[in-house]
Amino acid sequence: MATLVFLEHHGNELSKASLGVLSKAASLGDEDVAGIIAGSDVRTLADEAGKFGAAKVYAADDSQLQAPLPQPRVDVIARLVRDQGFDTVLFANSVLAADIAAGLAARLDAGLNWDLTDIVNEDGRLIGKRPALQDSVYVDVGWTSEPRLALFRSGSFDPNATGGSAEIEDLQVELEDFSTAARMIDQAHEESEGPSIEDAQIIVAGGRGLGGPENFTLVEELAKALGGAVGATRAVVDAGWYPYSTQVGQTGKTVSPKLYIACGISGAIQHKVGMQSSGVIVAINKDANAPIFEFSDLGVVGDVHEVVPKLTELVRQRKGS
Ligand SMILES: Cc1cc2nc3c(=O)[nH]c(=O)nc-3n(C[C@H](O)[C@H](O)[C@H](O)COP(=O)(O)OP(=O)(O)OC[C@H]3O[C@@H](n4cnc5c(N)ncnc54)[C@H](O)[C@@H]3O)c2cc1C
Repeated sequence: MATLVFLEHHGNELSKASLGVLSKAASLGDEDVAGIIAGSDVRTLADEAGKFGAAKVYAADDSQLQAPLPQPRVDVIARLVRDQGFDTVLFANSVLAADIAAGLAARLDAGLNWDLTDIVNEDGRLIGKRPALQDSVYVDVGWTSEPRLALFRSGSFDPNATGGSAEIEDLQVELEDFSTAARMIDQAHEESEGPSIEDAQIIVAGGRGLGGPENFTLVEELAKALGGAVGATRAVVDAGWYPYSTQVGQTGKTVSPKLYIACGISGAIQHKVGMQSSGVIVAINKDANAPIFEFSDLGVVGDVHEVVPKLTELVRQRKGS
């Protein structure tokens, strides 16, 4: 098995989701898992990948790769896969990674399994796990040819720092004419305080039980006191109460913080699949029969308007003392 993992970076950091995929790849039995980093001024990030299981990191460090556009990266990765004979290429899902994976599949005439949440090595055969039927069942998926491409839901795996170091190899970047046709005109960043929900160790999430957008301050205050991020259900983002970027679940983000506090959330299956791998799940809901209590570690049957401010106060007192 010769596995390559696409290591996406934002600014000066490798994305937690792609480091998670790298750690997973390193646990599948391939001792020589490699990573590819493509961008401008990114060579220094290669060392970081070694700590998460990469034996080798290919660095395509070139100003032509400054903008996060897919086609130039497809050129780089396609050439690398052909030259080095990689049989497996893994991606953590993102807008960029999904475009690259699709482009690479077309370029290499390769099979791409997407939306996977796990992968296992069964006697040398890789089997992907893909949720189906609104995430109520897992389907085993495979590949009929090499290279095999796989795109994993963001947050499916925790990065596991093993403390190793990677050999770094610089790549010459040669782009196809058609790959330079697109130009990045502008990039907008949403301003937000505190950690993003993908990276947060603690998430406090709000649902329709909050009663209105103005009551999200309850959730924000608790998240702030705990040093965590704010998440939301689809019901509330669809209602315009909170930004889409915070949606947790099947059509939102998959998260796995150490602590997930669900406030006024019923626990629909589509929400559950996005947060069920959290370390400790705490639910606050006034309905003792709400489905969320079936998969919570701790449950408070009560009104969010009463319980959440008290909890916030308690956290502040503890942190202050
Ligand atoms: C294809 C598809 C994809 C979907 N994708 C997602 C997804 O990615 N993420 C997602 O979240 N949903 C998703 N959904 C929607 C999902 O099915 C639910 O509708 C949604 O999760 C419900 O959100 P909620 O828990 O905020 O609201 P509700 O289901 O309305 O639950 C509100 C809860 O708050 C409780 N409550 C009310 N008042 C209070 C109070 N004062 N104090 C305490 N508790 C109170 C109620 O008892 C109730 O349990 C998807 C649906 C479909 C069909």
